[in-house]
Amino acid sequence: MAKVLIVAEQRDGKLKKSTFELVGAASAAGNETHVALLGDGVGALAAEIGTYGANKVHVAESASLKLYNGETYANVLTELVKSLSPDVVLASHTPTGRDLMPRIARRLDVGLASDCISLVFEGTNIKVRRPVYSGKATAEVEFLGAGPRLATIRANALGVGKPDASKKAEVAPFAVNAGEPKTKTTDVVQGASARPDVTEAAIVVSGGRALKSAENFKMIEDLADVLGAAVGASRAAVDAGYRPHRDQVGQTGKVVSPALYIACGISGAIQHLAGMRSSKTIVAINMDPEAPIYQIADYGMIGDIFQAVPALTEEFKKVKEH
Ligand SMILES: Cc1cc2nc3c(=O)[nH]c(=O)nc-3n(C[C@H](O)[C@H](O)[C@H](O)COP(=O)(O)OP(=O)(O)OC[C@H]3O[C@@H](n4cnc5c(N)ncnc54)[C@H](O)[C@@H]3O)c2cc1C
Repeated sequence: MAKVLIVAEQRDGKLKKSTFELVGAASAAGNETHVALLGDGVGALAAEIGTYGANKVHVAESASLKLYNGETYANVLTELVKSLSPDVVLASHTPTGRDLMPRIARRLDVGLASDCISLVFEGTNIKVRRPVYSGKATAEVEFLGAGPRLATIRANALGVGKPDASKKAEVAPFAVNAGEPKTKTTDVVQGASARPDVTEAAIVVSGGRALKSAENFKMIEDLADVLGAAVGASRAAVDAGYRPHRDQVGQTGKVVSPALYIACGISGAIQHLAGMRSSKTIVAINMDPEAPIYQIADYGMIGDIFQAVPALTEEFKKVKEH
C-alpha cells in the first residue's frame, strides 16, 4: 500500500473529471489516498472528492490561489509534499498538470513520468506506461531510488469509477505559503465554446482539411452536439483557419484519449495519430481507402463526409429520440 497524493484540478469551482479518475484508481488499489485542493473558496469541493474514495483532502485556500499560477501552486504543493512525505504524487496530464509537475519534480529533485496511459501500484512504488516515438510504441517506466514518484496521467486513461455518497474524506486545511513569485496571473480568458474540451471529452468528433471551410465545420458540430462530444481538428484545418488552435489534436496540439474518436476527412498523418491513437475506439470517414487513418481505425466508412456526417447525425438523433 502506498501513500498517494493527488493534485486536484478545478476551474470556477468545478472539479475536473480527470481528478476523479486518479482518486478512484488510487483508492481502488487500496492506497492511503490524499488529495491536494488549491484555490479560493474551494473547500466545499472536498466532499465530492471524498465520494470517490479519498481518505483525506488537504485544502489550501487563498486569494493568491484563485487563478492558476505555476510558481505559487508549485511552492504550496512542494511544501505539502515535504510535510506529508507521500510515496507517489499524481496529476492529470492537462495543460495545468504539464506545467505544474515538472516544477515540483525540480524543487524536490525527484523523477517524473509524464503523459502516462497506464498505472499499476506495486507496494509503495508504481509502474507506468507512456507513449514514445509519437505513440508508435509505449515504454514501461519504473522508478528507482528514494523520494516520491511523480507522474502525470492522460485524461480518460484510467476511467472514472462510480461515486459513493456514503464515502467521506477527512478535510484538513493546509497553510498557504505562496512564496514570492516572479509572475502574477491577472486574468484567464475562457474559450467561447460551451462544448467539452477535447482532452476531457468521452467522445471527440474531429474534422480535417477535407471540410474546406470554417462554415462546413457546422456539420461536425452538429454531429458532436447530438453525441455530447467535443470538436477536434487536424492541423491542416487549424492552419487553414477553420478552427481555433485549442481544438487541434496531435503532436503540436492536444493529446486525447476518448472512448470514441471520429475522424472526418483526416488522412491520419503520423503527427495527428500522435495525439489520438490511444483512443479506445477509432472511427474514420474518408473517401480514400488507402488513407493511413484506416490502419489504426476500428471502424471505417469509405465515402464522402458531406454525405456521411449529416446522415450519421440524423441516425443518432433518431436513436436518441427512441
Ligand atoms: C512538426 C509537425 C507537427 C505537426 N503537428 C500536427 C498536429 O499536431 N496535428 C495534426 O493533425 N497534424 C500535424 N501536422 C501536420 C500533418 O503532417 C498533416 O499535414 C495534417 O495532419 C494533415 O491534416 P488533414 O488530415 O486534415 O489533411 P490531409 O492530409 O490533406 O487529408 C485530408 C483527407 O481528407 C480526405 N478527403 C478529402 N475530401 C474528402 C471528402 N469529401 N470526404 C471524405 N474524405 C475526404 C482525403 O482523402 C485525405 O485523406 C504536423 C506536421 C509537422 C511537420
